Amino acid sequence: MKRRHSLKLISALPLIAALPSIALGEAKKDASKGKAGAMLDENDTLAKAMQYKADASKASAMRANKKAFCYNCSKYNVCMAGDATCKPLDKAALAKAEAASCQIFKGKLVAKNGWCLSWQPIG
Ligand code: SF4
Repeated sequence: MKRRHSLKLISALPLIAALPSIALGEAKKDASKGKAGAMLDENDTLAKAMQYKADASKASAMRANKKAFCYNCSKYNVCMAGDATCKPLDKAALAKAEAASCQIFKGKLVAKNGWCLSWQPIG
């Protein structure tokens, strides 16, 4: 009996090992649901020039306003003019999303708690 249980556990090991990557894949799908593009890489040339950080708390001293984040930037969830692949999230989806499009970074998603030099308050 014990041996049978051990064999079952051993045969399930590959699935157990794959679970974190499956979960991560699903999270990425959710983050980009309804939008085109992948997460913006901080090492992207334009991202570096704009001092983009996915975690605003790690931004340079240029981020004087400590309440400035992508989620409260007027360019968040806005598509660059002429970008047919970009689709802003509706209000309900935006409230749940960890990332959205940005008017500055075509085809990419920026983190809701991110920041860059182009930050502008809404309104
Ligand atoms: Fe974030 Fe900068 Fe885009 Fe504003 S312009 S949403 S601060 S990356």
